Amino acid sequence: MNSSKSTSAVVLGGGISGLFATRVLAEHYDTVTLVDRDHLTGPNLLRRGLPQGHHLHGLLARGQEITEEHFPGITDQMVADGSAIGDASNDVRWIIAGKPLVQTDSGLTCLTASRPFFESHIRDRVLALPNVVLSEQTDISRLDVSEDGKRVQGVWVFPEGKHETLLPADLVVDASGRGSRLSVWLDDLGYGKVPEEKHKIGMGYATRYYEIPDEAFEGNISVNTVASPEVPRGCICQKIDGGRAIVTAYGILGDHPPTDPEGYLDFIKSLAAPDIYNILQQAKPLNDPVAYKFPTNLRRHYELMSDLPSGILAIGDGVASFNPSYAQGMTVAALGSVVLRDHVAGGGPVDTLAYFKDLAQNAVDGCWDVAVSNDLAFPGVEGERTPEITETHEFIAKVQDAAAVDAEVSRAFQRVIGLADHYTVLHEPHLEAKILGA
Ligand SMILES: Cc1cc2nc3c(=O)[nH]c(=O)nc-3n(C[C@H](O)[C@H](O)[C@H](O)COP(=O)(O)OP(=O)(O)OC[C@H]3O[C@@H](n4cnc5c(N)ncnc54)[C@H](O)[C@@H]3O)c2cc1C
Repeated sequence: MNSSKSTSAVVLGGGISGLFATRVLAEHYDTVTLVDRDHLTGPNLLRRGLPQGHHLHGLLARGQEITEEHFPGITDQMVADGSAIGDASNDVRWIIAGKPLVQTDSGLTCLTASRPFFESHIRDRVLALPNVVLSEQTDISRLDVSEDGKRVQGVWVFPEGKHETLLPADLVVDASGRGSRLSVWLDDLGYGKVPEEKHKIGMGYATRYYEIPDEAFEGNISVNTVASPEVPRGCICQKIDGGRAIVTAYGILGDHPPTDPEGYLDFIKSLAAPDIYNILQQAKPLNDPVAYKFPTNLRRHYELMSDLPSGILAIGDGVASFNPSYAQGMTVAALGSVVLRDHVAGGGPVDTLAYFKDLAQNAVDGCWDVAVSNDLAFPGVEGERTPEITETHEFIAKVQDAAAVDAEVSRAFQRVIGLADHYTVLHEPHLEAKILGA
């Protein structure tokens, strides 16, 4: 970029990753245009481009920290507007393989709210930035590329009811989600196929909203009965904005929660622990259960390409989207925005391949490996169970057993789940001794 010329960036997609990316770019580019096909600022928060928005979205502690770092004061704002808040362990009842983990002070903030609530709060802050321009109800059409195909110099879009229009840009960031067409565009430009990795999990969700009296939660903000190899069905029941509670039940490999109210309740009754079923005895449903199917974990390995054009990056689900029951996607998007911040900070042209390598290493790999490895603990999920993976499964099962009886192990485990600490802390000698002895 030339410092005498005004600079511009375009972000494709106004979901969580697009919003984080816009926030970061707004510090380094004179103008940032955020493009989305939906009417983002319209009255319907459950918009068409966000079918997953109806379902439970837990924000991990690390994601919460980065959100607050990008938007100081947003946590207090969300609480003032109706999100529940508590400690990620002390105020959340985690039940794994039928056993509740010891609830203890983890030092991690847990905010519980609906996905549209999180997104609209972040969006309000992004749109308040003076150099951000929103182009909503605008379909992304194709990249604009230099004649030699080496530099992306903008993007062609279709604003609703108008002709195809060029948005010139020094940098385009693709945040258009799992259905991103970036890998196809790159192939068409002659860069070859982006290596894709897919793992079938056949996950099905069904979500219902309720009014639940406070006392039914017994002091918790969320009750999480996690699917385990023994009982591969899970459910989370948590307080959210609007004085409501959200209940999302899930199962893998085609064992999906039904959407008829009776079948839905029967599915919840069949979980490894009765806690959520008991809570629902005091609950008033606000809608019928709504389903969502998530067939595969999908990763596009841009970092393995030998060459890529300059002026184009990607972030979020378009790079990796994985088993939603681990609640990592929004946090991976947040971690990606930290990587993006580092790469645009210098003010010069961004090295595309260096960015993708860094994104893989510092935002995606850890969560992807946890998701893929954990899925393999479930019999029936296809994939190679290397001795290392089997050993990890055995160790994690021991951690969970120990966390059900020992507060220190429980605290350490919760901090690892929340991505606040690296999993190697579980191998520190005094913790490992407790874990192996439990
Ligand atoms: C059922 C389910 C439950 C989940 N639960 C959790 C959870 O508990 N915790 C968690 O952290 N994550 C969860 N996730 C993952 C989370 O939703 C995403 O990882 C996160 O929102 C980041 O997504 P994104 O912004 O990259 O993409 P998206 O959220 O998919 O946003 C993409 C945006 O691009 C726009 N767009 C797409 N194509 C075009 C086009 N051609 N033209 C214009 N605009 C376009 C769309 O309108 C949309 O706004 C869940 C996902 C699913 C499916």
